[in-house]
Amino acid sequence: MNITNCPCGSGLSYNNCCQPYHLKAKIAPTAEALMRSRYAAFVVADGDYLFETTHVSKRRGNSKDAYLKSARNTKWLKLNIVAADFDTVEFKPFYLNKKFQTEVLHEKSSFRLENGKWFYFDGLFYS
Ligand SMILES: [Zn+2]
Repeated sequence: MNITNCPCGSGLSYNNCCQPYHLKAKIAPTAEALMRSRYAAFVVADGDYLFETTHVSKRRGNSKDAYLKSARNTKWLKLNIVAADFDTVEFKPFYLNKKFQTEVLHEKSSFRLENGKWFYFDGLFYS
């Protein structure tokens, strides 16, 4: 896939940013890097990556297929990181709704580091 700018909005090219994580050539070094790469995985519809970076205790009911469908059913526009620390990231992803209007979510996700790998654990949603 040829994407000049990484979908996560880092300003880097995709192949110098989130793609190496998606290809398992590199491991996301921080919770924020993992969060960005998961957002980018939604944009490029990489259901396997979304499944595999979800904590093992949270995978039930989240199949690779379900992630793929969810990714394909939403047109993600951009990502704003609000705040990030060691194991949480607060962020706002923008997307297009079915009426082609821009909407935004607001979530604070928590992540867990296990055996040197970060995993998405759960999310707190602001309304
Ligand atoms: Zn990226």
